[in-house]
Amino acid sequence: MTRYNNILETIGRTPLVRLNRLAPEHVNLYVKVESFNPMGSVKDRMARAIIEDAQASGALQPGQTVIEATSGNTGIGLAMVCAQKGYPLVVVMAENFSVERRKMLRFLGAKVVLTPASEKGTGMLKKAEELARQHGWFLCRQFDNPVNARVHTQTTVPEILADMQGEPLYAFVTGFGTGGTLNGVATGLRQHSPMTQIVAAEPDNAPVLGSGIAQPQDVMGNPQGSHPSFKPHLMQGWSPDFVSRLTQEAVSDQLIDQIQPVPGDAAMATSRRLARQEGIFVGTSSGATLYAALQVAAQAPAGANIVCMLPDTGERYLSTPLFADIDEDMNPEEVAISKSTQGFRFDRSSAAAPAPAAVVEVALDADAEAFVDELVAKEPVVMFALEWCEFCWSARNLFAAMNVTCKSVDLDSVEYQNNDFGNKIRAVLAKRTGAPTIPQIYIGQQHIGGCTELFDYQRDGGFAGALTRMDIQYSEFDKDPYTLLPQWLHSRAS
Ligand code: PMP
Repeated sequence: MTRYNNILETIGRTPLVRLNRLAPEHVNLYVKVESFNPMGSVKDRMARAIIEDAQASGALQPGQTVIEATSGNTGIGLAMVCAQKGYPLVVVMAENFSVERRKMLRFLGAKVVLTPASEKGTGMLKKAEELARQHGWFLCRQFDNPVNARVHTQTTVPEILADMQGEPLYAFVTGFGTGGTLNGVATGLRQHSPMTQIVAAEPDNAPVLGSGIAQPQDVMGNPQGSHPSFKPHLMQGWSPDFVSRLTQEAVSDQLIDQIQPVPGDAAMATSRRLARQEGIFVGTSSGATLYAALQVAAQAPAGANIVCMLPDTGERYLSTPLFADIDEDMNPEEVAISKSTQGFRFDRSSAAAPAPAAVVEVALDADAEAFVDELVAKEPVVMFALEWCEFCWSARNLFAAMNVTCKSVDLDSVEYQNNDFGNKIRAVLAKRTGAPTIPQIYIGQQHIGGCTELFDYQRDGGFAGALTRMDIQYSEFDKDPYTLLPQWLHSRAS
């Protein structure tokens, strides 16, 4: 298909890609890159399938709110599906999952309810159940909804088999969170490719399957409380603190041939190698799964075909340990590259910089002068700004945090482009203040300066004093105003 009727039609049919540098030469190691799904993870498949199944059965009524407990990717997939189909969505998530996930969910229009990290996966599940019961919302139940496994039997397996083009598949390697992928793919492969070994990977410090200890259950066969072998681990999306119904089913039906433990460090290192040696950018659980697949590959016979699941994209992990030692600033090697030529260097003082072009004296525009005078006389707080400049944005943040109204004249906005009026005002400001930069801020007719001068003025109590003298109400702001600068400016402003 080259044209789609809506974004949901683009889910699935993810590519199977051969690893040419990371894999040992005697095997063919293929990765199934689920980040090709529209929201960047394997869970898009399940999100669409569960909602469409519930629509068909009538379990989900038009306009009814959808709710789910999720470590993030399910929520993000559901947020896309619910946005496209017009259902409100509430996502319940433990606070220890990465903040990127929360922000993405809210960007997509979902509500996010956080639960304490100490309550683990069980706690977030209980909260979702409680909310669903009390408000009559549709709970997706990804941990035991058979649709979560079926979608893999019906889509992921045929995709893999079609791509193998009749060649035998020696092993399929996956981790498990809900167990949907493991259960569903294993079920399909047992049927269509019974010789394929199913390898389940799990964190080495939380061997909920490898320990062989059964999950405590209630009389209904539902998991009850944490598994005794569970420990907090690095692989977001893998092994919650209990063995889910779908995972348990895979164990009971003897769908798993091998359990491969994976150390957290190895997961991160493998994810990085995948990025640097194969150009494939994925998250922590993908690195973990590939590490397991490499163990399988090392033992596999010559010519064996191995398929490894890569559940999601790496962009979701910028705030996590996966990126902890990735620098923001230039490291010594990069500084050396910068210094290897003379121009445009960060380390050079302005004294060494080429002299700026001579400033041409221009006649000031009388209307612009009158405009500045009148505005400064009339408005208690005035900022001459650029519409999208980050320093202006930071100053606006301080005014907003203190509930102070600021008259902002955005010199580069459409409104001030007429007759080049914005630039004429700028020339007046440069002459009056002696500073060519923007913003320039006036408070109580007094020229304060730019953003950092405003922040210093606030820190010293001058701003509060001026507001009090002018009888202007304001809210206290007792944090360091410099925290309002965008992240990249922090190191240079302080
Ligand atoms: N990795 C990540 C990043 C995930 O979000 C998930 C889903 N929780 C998994 C792996 C495991 O997939 P499944 O739920 O199908 O077992």
